[in-house]
Formats: sequence, structure tokens, C-alpha cells
Amino acid sequence: MKSVNFLNHTDSVVKKFKRDFQSPYKAMKAIIATWSFGLKAVESGWRVLREGGSALDAVETAIRAVENDFSNRSVGLGGYPNIAGFVELDAAIMDGSTLRAGSVAAVRNVQNPISLARKVMENTPHIMIAGEGATKLAKFFGLYVDKADLQPEARMEWEKRLKTALSASPREGSVDYWLKLAAEGVFNHDTIGCVAMDENRNIVAGCSTSGYAFKLVGRVGDSPIIGAGLYANSFGGAAATGLGENIMIHNVSRRVVDFMEQGLPADEASEKTIQYISKVGRRIEQISFIALDKNGCFGAGTTGEAFEFAVMSEAFSQPFLLKVRNEKGHLVFEKIPERGFQSS
Ligand code: ASP
Repeated sequence: MKSVNFLNHTDSVVKKFKRDFQSPYKAMKAIIATWSFGLKAVESGWRVLREGGSALDAVETAIRAVENDFSNRSVGLGGYPNIAGFVELDAAIMDGSTLRAGSVAAVRNVQNPISLARKVMENTPHIMIAGEGATKLAKFFGLYVDKADLQPEARMEWEKRLKTALSASPREGSVDYWLKLAAEGVFNHDTIGCVAMDENRNIVAGCSTSGYAFKLVGRVGDSPIIGAGLYANSFGGAAATGLGENIMIHNVSRRVVDFMEQGLPADEASEKTIQYISKVGRRIEQISFIALDKNGCFGAGTTGEAFEFAVMSEAFSQPFLLKVRNEKGHLVFEKIPERGFQSS
């Protein structure tokens, strides 16, 4: 018996939705992305898949679309900076068919860190490059931008925080003060995570973020960490968003894929993951993720109340948003019809 509920099971429309949503399709192309800004990603990535492109190209293209939106305060150079006023970005990509991966951490002056992560994967013997080395690599691959000014709103917010931080106790501008601010839970963060499967059934996962707003210099979240922020193999893929410090502890993405490897579809693997984290009972706040299994079925989970994500596959006529709600460890999926993609 399936443990995941889809709205009211007596509603035939919902039943149909569940059937359409979860049945394995003959055609496998599918893509899923985190948050409502994931619609933009799914739209861009879907164009690549539709034309017969690879999941690797689809995920990179999808994530670039969000990185290139400078109005986004949690992804790309439009994001909030670290406490020193520099935007430091984390990104990673993993190819499930080859188990190759590339990632960059705390990189500055790069508009598309996801493309740099792909360069690391395809052009170096390494998986993860951090900080100055990543910036140097960006220069080498022509991905470095000289001018990476903060967006006016991000600058204003940073100056406000800095002023408070500098005039505060326990110590002016100190780590202690930053930690005090952090404890107040006033910081903003989100990630564009994306998983896609192409017509050859290759599954790729990727993610990109400016991380925890006003973080300490050099802070790295879960996003560039393979297994935590993302994972993909031939059974499925997953990508996480939320508080990186918690996501890392539970190795969230690898755990979701583990459950798919054990034979569960993406939605049930998601629910098992949420139940596992709840059972551990520590560091459970602000963990959300998306999942896609080898049959083209979607899943997602959250330890919070609800989490929105975007999907598209050959079974649907256009990308749309879904919401997953966590009802005491049981995941309930809802379509958000009024917020579907409007084709141009
Ligand atoms: N997981 C990201 C980080 O901790 C932020 C987020 O997705 O909300 O850097």
C-alpha cells in the first residue's frame, strides 16, 4: 500500500493526477526543480530535453536561467553577500550515468558557478575546487566577471546588517555577534536544485546558491557537497535546499537516492527520508529536497510545513508548480494550478 497521499483520494481528478504523476511513462524525459523560481529553470531545461538534448545540458541550462536572474537574492551574483560584502557562491553537478561530479565552493565573481562546476567535472581530475582556486579556474575558462557589484537592495541590506554588527556587543563586528544574529533566524537562503532525465535515461542532478545571507567569509553549505546537496546515479537523483548545516549532517540527497535504489519510487523514497530525519530528531529544521526516479516519477520532501517545486515531463503539456506538505511525517502533494507556466 502506498503511504503517500495525494489530496483527497475520493476525488477522481486527484486520482487521475496521482496516476498521471506517478506512473512510469514510455517516454522518460522529465525535469524537476526547487522552489517557485524553479519554474524558470524547468522551462529552460525542458527546451533542451524536448529537442533531444542531454540531461547534463538540461540541468546546466536550467540552473543558469536562475543564476542569470539578478533579482534573485539567494542564487547567483544577485544574491546576498557574506558578512564582508562579497557574494560567495556554491554549485555542483553530478552525472548519474558516469558517477562523475564537479563542484565549486565559496567562489567569487562568477555569474554561472554551475558551468564552472561542470568544467571541474569535465576538465580536471578533481571533484571539488574552493575559494581562490575556483576563481582562478573561472578566469581560465572565461567564466570570471570583473565587475560583480552587489545589487542595490542586497547592498542596502548588507550595510544595515554591517552597521548593526559593528555597533553591537558582545564584540564589535565579531564572530560572536554574527552568531547572535544567526540565532535570531533573520537570514535568507535558498538554492536552485534541479534533477533531469533524458531520453537515454541518464539522470543528472545540480544545484547552485549564494548560500546563507551574510554568512561568515568562507562558509560553505551543503550545495557543493556530493551526497548532501545533490546526488545522482542510475536509480534516481535528488537535490536539497534549506539550512546547509542540517542537510550535511543527514547526507540528505544520497539518502533519498538510497531509498530509490532499494526499489522505492521517488515520492515514497522522499517520505522515508523525512521519516528517517524525524526519527533522528536532531538538526531537522529547514530541510527540503526534490527527487526524480529512473521511471520518471517525481518526489519531494520537507521537514517544514510545505515546500514548492516545479516539474515537467512528457506526460504534461506544460511545466507547473507543485507543493508538498508534511503532515506529521506523511507527505501530501498538491498541484498549484494558478501558478503554472504560461507559454510565451
Ligand atoms: N542549502 C543552502 C545553503 O545552506 C541554502 C538553501 O538552500 O536555502 O547554503
